[in-house]
Order: sequence, then C-alpha cells, then structure tokens
Amino acid sequence: MILTCDAGLIDGLCVDRPAVRIIDGAIAAVAPSDQLPATAGEERLDLGRRALLPGTVNTHNHSFQSLLRGFGDDLPFLEWRDRALYRYSPEITRPGVDGVYTGALFAFAEMALHGVTTVCDFFYLNNGANENASRVIQAARDVGLRVVLARCFYDWEGAPASYRESPIDAARRFHELRCAHAADPLVTVQPAPHSLHGASPAMIHAGVECAREVGTRWHIHLAEEKYQVEEARRNFGTTPLRAVQQLGLLGPDMVAVHGCWFDEGERVLLAQSGAALAYNPGSNMFLGDGVTDIVDLDRRGVRIALGTDGGCSNSRVSVLDEMRSCALLQKVARLDGQALTAERAFHFGTVGGGDALGLPIGSLSVGQRADLLFVDLDDPSLWPEQSLPKNVVYSLSARAIKEVFVDGKPVVRDGRLVNVELAAVKARVCELTQSWRRE
Ligand SMILES: [Zn+2]
Repeated sequence: MILTCDAGLIDGLCVDRPAVRIIDGAIAAVAPSDQLPATAGEERLDLGRRALLPGTVNTHNHSFQSLLRGFGDDLPFLEWRDRALYRYSPEITRPGVDGVYTGALFAFAEMALHGVTTVCDFFYLNNGANENASRVIQAARDVGLRVVLARCFYDWEGAPASYRESPIDAARRFHELRCAHAADPLVTVQPAPHSLHGASPAMIHAGVECAREVGTRWHIHLAEEKYQVEEARRNFGTTPLRAVQQLGLLGPDMVAVHGCWFDEGERVLLAQSGAALAYNPGSNMFLGDGVTDIVDLDRRGVRIALGTDGGCSNSRVSVLDEMRSCALLQKVARLDGQALTAERAFHFGTVGGGDALGLPIGSLSVGQRADLLFVDLDDPSLWPEQSLPKNVVYSLSARAIKEVFVDGKPVVRDGRLVNVELAAVKARVCELTQSWRRE
C-alpha cells in the first residue's frame, strides 16, 4: 500500500507531497509522491489536504488512572496519592467489574485520537497475578495500539496489598507474561521495579535481572518529588541515581522516569551510563514536582523521550501536548525563549520514544514500523502552513488529527476510531465510575 498527501514532516524537515510505501506493517519506501508509483495491484491512497507525521510514542503512562481523572486534582502529591490512587485502586481491581480493562480501553482510545501510536503502560495493579496486565494488553489490541507492558515489581508494605509481591513471584510472573504474549508483534513486556521507595533493593535487582536475562529495557521512577531525594539519602546514604549506581544496576538498558531532582553530578552520570529518560512535563507541572533540566541533559547527550504519565496526574493523554509543555517549561525555567526548540521537542516525542523503548518506531524511515499520523492542513490550528514543525508542536489542536496508522493498519480514520465504538467506551467508564465521588 502507498499512502500520500500534500505535506509531511520527514526527519524533522517539511516536505511537499510525500509518499510512503507500506509492506507487512513496515515502511518499505519514502519518496516524493511523483517518484513512487504503485506497482501492479498495489493500493494507493491519496489523503489530500493532510500532513504526514510519525506516530507519537508515550513512554510513560498508568492507563487505569484515566478513570480517576478529576478525583485528585489540586492536591499535594501525597494527598493526591492517598485520596485518588490508593482509595480507588481496590474499586478498579474488584472482581467482576473488569475495571483494569475499562481504564486501559478508555486511556488508549483517547490516546489514539490524540496521535499516540505506542504506549508504555507502567502497570502495578497486579493482584499477585498476570490477568490484569493481560487485560491492559487486550485493551491495546482492541483499540489497535502498539503497547509496552512495563510490568511493575513492587513490595513496599505501605502500598495497597494489590500492588505487592515477593521478588521471586514478580520475576516468575514477568517471564510468564512475556512468554504468553511473545507471538504478538505489537506487544512487548518489560520489567519495571517501581522506584527506590516502592521496591526493595532485592526487588529492584530481580527486575533488572529479568531485563538482562531477556535483553530488554527496564523502567524505574526516580527523583520525581524533592522528598524522594531526602528519602534516598536516608535509605541509601546518597541521591537517587547514585543509589541505582551503588546497587550496581545503572546501565544503558535503564529508562529513568521523571528525574526532576537530578543534581549536576547525576546528570553527568546519566549521560555516561547511556540510560534513557522518560520525561513527563505535564504531570510534573500538575503535581508540582519540579522541573527536570532537559536542556542540560540534552546537551550532555542523554537519550530523552516523553510521557504523559497517568490520566489523573496530568489530565491529558497527548504526547503532542507534552512536546509543547516540554518546550515551554524549559523556556520559562531558564527565562530563555531559545532554550528548547519545537523540532527538538518533536524529536523527543517520536524518535526519542522509539529509542528509549528499544523499538523500531518513531521516524518515517525505511525499516521502521509504519506508525503514522495524518493531520488536517485545513484545520485553523495549523494556519499559516509555512511553519509546519513549529505549528505541530505549539498550536496543533487534537481536532486536526484525522488518520492514525499502527503497523500499517488504520486505527483512526477521518477523526474516528476504527476498531472500537467511543460510545461503548463511554458507557463502560460511566457504569464503573458512577458511584465514585471526589472527597
Ligand atoms: Zn509513573
């Protein structure tokens, strides 16, 4: 199949009339439209007044939290955690309600409509088994998104019982989950020791060992809130990233999430280690966490990706929105309008995401999976047309996102979900949450 349209952003450059050939879900050719004729029997679809973009990669999310949108807003971090997250987690995992699936279906449907083609769901409502994680994966399949299930390793006794496991059980279940979904090319399972406070050193070791046994990335929340630095000092005698180094685990397979409070030495250490950072500017602002020094990390060569974080710690699920927040937050933190460009933020949300997750996604180049977006050039949020890369990051409305393809298959057509009925998703969400009340 060949897809073509009026404009495109390819390798960060604006081009006229691009065409993409898709074979078996991968990009087989990218060329100007008039240089890529269809072969005999090949379908050619001209989408006209659209601009072609790579699909965006959401490297950090907790899908079930979309169900809690609005329930913990405008609170300090720990109150948000207790009054929204901890209070409603048992409702979501209550037997018979399929709440985990409903939350994931809701989050992923909304993400697809916002141009997310891959989502990494850092999932910790495991209830001592893999059924819940498999329901998240099923929701991604039903919407049509590519998913990385970052299976959590969690054993802090202060958290709800449903989050907790022993290191041995978590490791065994990680391998079982990975094997169960190994045949699905759109599903990847990676381990995710929760954090220095949510996982004991033995648990973190177990998670990282799993990653290294199967050669995959691993995820960990680090230095999100300022108090976590003090906590690491108390428990490890040093700062969060140095604590990971002290455990002997720091390496290029790590995806550090947040990093708001990394000091200069830790930023150097992160760069030297080759690890990636999943940066969540919207969530960091929403919870009042702090400002990660992305400009400095980028200058030092750290691999940076973007995430939306959970739906109740941001209230938005769009990586395009995170690109805007990322650039604006760095500008205001440095009082410098040049601090970070739209093009760089776009890179973080696309190429950076694929790189952080270790998947062949994020750019429109031959050999990558065919995860694509088409936005409507006639939408006023993209006028005038001369500055497409800038407008995509700073002014694009989700209304302009018209087509979304994952692995060459349509997930959104003409602004509507292809595989699920939005009304049916809404009915499920309303039924599950109708008796819940914000305290
Ligand atoms: Zn998180």
